[in-house]
Parts: sequence; structure tokens; C-alpha cells
Amino acid sequence: MGEWSEYFEDFPEENPGNYVGGKFDPEGAKRVREAEGERSAASAEITQMLANAWKAEKERSFVQVDECPQCGLEALNTYKIKDTFYLCECQDCGMYGQGGSHSEALKSAEDALGDGLDWRDNPVPWSR
Ligand SMILES: [Zn+2]
Repeated sequence: MGEWSEYFEDFPEENPGNYVGGKFDPEGAKRVREAEGERSAASAEITQMLANAWKAEKERSFVQVDECPQCGLEALNTYKIKDTFYLCECQDCGMYGQGGSHSEALKSAEDALGDGLDWRDNPVPWSR
């Protein structure tokens, strides 16, 4: 690791990271890297905003707690996001299901028994 960075310090034209559009341009490459860093910071910020909005939406939409079909604990939260969108998520083992009604969401969770689902791996349902 250290050896390569020392090598590139001595021979910057050998560093592929110093090229922009096939031309040796260390300053341009630096600007491109900085712009990419700003973009990914902005993107992380938006992701965080969406995650926070989603968390607030769930808190507003909470319906009840049921027994989880997988772990058996009284930890399966149901959320009514819309009249036609229900979501169940176990707060303990992480299994989840969704559907157009409470019973559909429960059934979808039961159908996923043993699939190793964990909603916390993918907290927002539109990316599942
Ligand atoms: Zn569970």
C-alpha cells in the first residue's frame, strides 16, 4: 500500500488516478474526485433524510403488536401505511411481510418463515 503511493508520488504520470478522459491531468483528476466526494455526501444526506421520513411515517402508522410467526415473541409490529398497504416487521428477529390488508401482510410474513429475512438489512420497503 505505502509502496505504491510512494511510487506514484515519484512518478505521478504512472498513476491511473491522475488521468481525466485519457489525458494526464492531476489537477483535473483531483477536482473530479472532490466533486464525486461532494456528490456522495449529498446522496448520503438524502438517503438519511428519506430514512428519517420513513421512520416518522411508521411511527404515525403503527397499528398493533402481534406474536411473530418466526420467533414467537410478541414483537411483530403492524403498520398501516395506506388503506391498501400494511407492513409487519418483527422487532426481535427481523422477519417481515407486507400486503394490501393486515391479514395479507401477516400471511406474507408467515410465507417467508425461515427465509432469513431481516427488515433492518433494508429498512425502507421500496428497496426490498
Ligand atoms: Zn420475530
